[in-house]
Amino acid sequence: SLYWKSMGDIYVSMAQVDLDTDKYKLIRSNNFINKAMDKSNDDYSKNIKLVIEATAQPEYLEDILNFVDTSTIRQRLKGKRTITYEFMGRNFGWCRARYIAVNTQGDETPRHVIFTVEDINEQKSREKHLTTMAETDAMTGLYNRQGGSAKIKQLLTEGHKGMLCLFDVDKFKYVNDTFGHQTGDNVIIAVGNAMRSAFRDRDIVMRLGGDEFIVFAEGITSEELGAKVIQRFFNILDKASIEGHEDYKISISLGATFATQDIPFEVLYKQADTCTYESKKITGRSFTFHRIGS
Ligand code: GH3
Ligand code: MG
Repeated sequence: SLYWKSMGDIYVSMAQVDLDTDKYKLIRSNNFINKAMDKSNDDYSKNIKLVIEATAQPEYLEDILNFVDTSTIRQRLKGKRTITYEFMGRNFGWCRARYIAVNTQGDETPRHVIFTVEDINEQKSREKHLTTMAETDAMTGLYNRQGGSAKIKQLLTEGHKGMLCLFDVDKFKYVNDTFGHQTGDNVIIAVGNAMRSAFRDRDIVMRLGGDEFIVFAEGITSEELGAKVIQRFFNILDKASIEGHEDYKISISLGATFATQDIPFEVLYKQADTCTYESKKITGRSFTFHRIGS
């Protein structure tokens, strides 16, 4: 009926299970589940294992098998109404498996349970959207300080090598004061766009805040390569045009250091920042590399 179909859009599967006899009754099912089961209505333990093995993504298999395990289910449901586990299915994307204790007269642990698998793709994409918003700088669409730092730290932890650049726009207060704050914002947006086109997709580009930015260029481990990449960025920046102020050229001062050994992000940041300060002493667009002992 329509009622069951509507429920089926949310509940991929549903069964009631007698834990004493291991007998079960399927309430909702689908072709993937039916194909995986043997056809008897005995042996819930065996059938749920067959179904999970056929329908869960391999990386979730061990945990979801532990979750559905009937030998421990009573203990896990003790004093609870329900327990859940989220996993990725092969055919349905994100799923939430759930056991519901069926209340029986005063028993501490249930004899009967309901097992359901629910489609949670909508919830997962909402969560993903919120995570993305939380780690993105609204003005430029680059990572914000928190999001970008976390990504760089993650790459470093995984052992990736690369070049960390930190830079700051020159005389930005002058831009704000003479052209107005809106033009200042446009300059920041133009810097973000230049970064996106100069660096590769897998590089981490972020706005620290104000007129300060960071790039982690993965795999760039020598000054020779680094200088090429930075020069490419400078060339793109040179072509950036600000509406109403076409003669204005964006100038920045950049400091760079290389993550080629296990150096923590905070240390690399300090090294790059010190070099940025050195570059500030040079008029026009410039970059400085961190050198051991400097
Ligand atoms: P320097 O060459 O030494 O970097 O000088 P500067 O004028 O660029 O000075 P500084 O980097 O210290 O100042 C950054 C300024 O950026 C200060 C602040 O008013 C302005 N600012 C920060 N965030 C924003 C923003 O979102 N939009 C605009 N328009 N201005 C901002
Ligand atoms: Mg500045």
